[in-house]
Amino acid sequence: MEDLMTGRYAFGANQLHIMRALDEIIDMLKNDYGMKVDETKERLKADSSQKSECPFCAKKVVDVDMHVSQSHPKEWKRYADNDKVMNRLQGKVRCSGCGSFLKSTKGHDEKCPETLL
Ligand SMILES: [Zn+2]
Ligand SMILES: [Zn+2]
Repeated sequence: MEDLMTGRYAFGANQLHIMRALDEIIDMLKNDYGMKVDETKERLKADSSQKSECPFCAKKVVDVDMHVSQSHPKEWKRYADNDKVMNRLQGKVRCSGCGSFLKSTKGHDEKCPETLL
């Protein structure tokens, strides 16, 4: 009888131990998760600092030239009539179909999403 009690007690203690271990694991996960959330936030902050605002829709975009070219093709001529933009796009060819910037349009016709439609 005494052995059984001891056994039960031991089992109870083990359960307590497991619960404590689980708590530790959960805390660990929380910490890890918290770190990841912070890292993601930092990365987002860094990203947004590199983004520029689209002059047409005020959206923050990484590559405003590409964004205007693809999302506002009607405004493109007005937008590209600018020394800074021209300098950035030197040596690149703009596909009027999809708005992508290419080193050369050679071979692009087959890949261009616009001509595939
Ligand atoms: Zn825009
Ligand atoms: Zn294209």
